[in-house]
Amino acid sequence: MNAQTPAGMAVPPVVPAADLPADAERFDVVVVGFGIAGGCAALEAARSGARVLLLERAAVHGGTSSMSGGHFYLGGGTAVQKATGHDDTVEAMARYLMESTKDPDEEKIRAYCAGSVAHFDWLEALGFEFERSYFPGKAVIQPGTEGLMFTGNEKVWPFRDEVAPAPRGHKVPVPGDTEGTKIVMDLLRDRVEEAGVEVRYETGATNLVVDAGGTVTGVAWRNFDRTGAVAAAAVVLAAGGFVMNADMVAAYTPALGEKLFTLGSTYDDGLGIRLGQSAGAALEHMDEPFITAPFYPPSSLVKGLIVNNRGERFVAEDSYHARTSYFVLKQPGAAAYLIADSDHMDEQRMPLVPLKDGYETIEEMEAGLKLPPGSLTATMARYNEHAARGEDPDFHKHPDWLAPQTNGPWGVYDLTLGTALYAGFTLGGMATTVDGEVRRPDGSVIGGLYAAGACASNIAQDGAGYCSGTQLGEGSFFGRRAGIAAAARARAATR
Ligand SMILES: Cc1cc2nc3c(=O)[nH]c(=O)nc-3n(C[C@H](O)[C@H](O)[C@H](O)COP(=O)(O)OP(=O)(O)OC[C@H]3O[C@@H](n4cnc5c(N)ncnc54)[C@H](O)[C@@H]3O)c2cc1C
Repeated sequence: MNAQTPAGMAVPPVVPAADLPADAERFDVVVVGFGIAGGCAALEAARSGARVLLLERAAVHGGTSSMSGGHFYLGGGTAVQKATGHDDTVEAMARYLMESTKDPDEEKIRAYCAGSVAHFDWLEALGFEFERSYFPGKAVIQPGTEGLMFTGNEKVWPFRDEVAPAPRGHKVPVPGDTEGTKIVMDLLRDRVEEAGVEVRYETGATNLVVDAGGTVTGVAWRNFDRTGAVAAAAVVLAAGGFVMNADMVAAYTPALGEKLFTLGSTYDDGLGIRLGQSAGAALEHMDEPFITAPFYPPSSLVKGLIVNNRGERFVAEDSYHARTSYFVLKQPGAAAYLIADSDHMDEQRMPLVPLKDGYETIEEMEAGLKLPPGSLTATMARYNEHAARGEDPDFHKHPDWLAPQTNGPWGVYDLTLGTALYAGFTLGGMATTVDGEVRRPDGSVIGGLYAAGACASNIAQDGAGYCSGTQLGEGSFFGRRAGIAAAARARAATR
């Protein structure tokens, strides 16, 4: 069996089904990768009655999911939304996601929103509870264990005029912005084991087994020096994104290769995507990264203004941090400065955007930042004049975040790429149906092949529209759907 682990852009060759030994092990469903997507797929497939094998390349379960902060983007009237007095509906959630996503997949968004409350309940039934509490501030993630906050652009213009805003960022009850999801992954492991899934660690899928008609019928694997292959009625690829693969990043999302802090784990090398390609998978949104350098907390800095190196504003500063970053990266030289006066500077609790300097006068600041003469003076005069009236005719920043920046000295925070510490991960992946079936470029589905999580493309598709929690949310939601559909295929095959 040809069981190598190709690096870079290499697409692993498929193993012809005819080469599979007659006595090869046989499972109903093989799931590749034990992160949130693979764990949920395996659990639902097993609960549907399938005999499931879960292959994990690492020595433990969890992948990038275990490293993550723990935001799940859920709504439509979850128990936390209700307990904290936030009205939300399936329709409002769907309309918001439709409006804020660049190339929305309506079928998937509608399914995700319609199933969101039930999915919230399913997640809690793993054995934890989201705290019934709300964090009202502007932060990357709740500082404590508060269960809910705004993690998108719901209150940002133009979205707030189109759909009534509701907070949907549900955080697992663990403080901090990393490793919160580990509790979910540990519970998922327990439930997966209880359900009878066979999990093999340190066993990476290396190739897909494909029959003459193009149907996927198994997986080849490697465990240290041992190699082998198993037959399956359905294979679910849930092997993570590609932020750790320098060649794929250079080819698809070069911005992620620039002095960036990569948000990923070792095996985010795109092998899942390349396995899909080997069977003919179409890829979607591969050029869309999530990139961000949050400058808040403290919330007070949101009242400042952001200018580019022409001294012009270009974004509503109250945008979700990744949306702000998306527009920063589109400015000349990817350069931008956040300016706050003495009344609005506070201790930085997210020091990714460094304080460049302090200036006694606006003229001195303009010269110090080498901005065109008169540019910053004019921009600040206009901003301050309107902010004093609670207005922002240029970018419609919410009145809650408008305040004149008139009380010098002024602090300048440098958002420029290469100076501020940008972090990111990839959003693109295999094109799939709402049930995780992998599509070919012509839209037809590849028999026997499913995908979910960061190696698939679902509702989180573009950096400007991203809401924190959509990766874990869609990975778990569409992972479950893929597992159920894969088990149904296996059942149908035995009839
Ligand atoms: C610090 C940090 C914070 C984050 N916070 C959030 C957040 O709060 N909310 C949110 O929605 N998203 C967040 N994200 C993003 C999110 O964690 C990921 O997008 C998500 O966990 C991906 O889940 P997954 O199941 O697709 O992949 P993973 O969790 O990475 O799982 C994939 C698994 O597949 C395994 N694997 C890879 N190749 C093979 C192979 N060939 N054979 C077998 N196994 C293989 C890997 O080892 C891994 O265990 C964060 C990311 C980071 C790094």
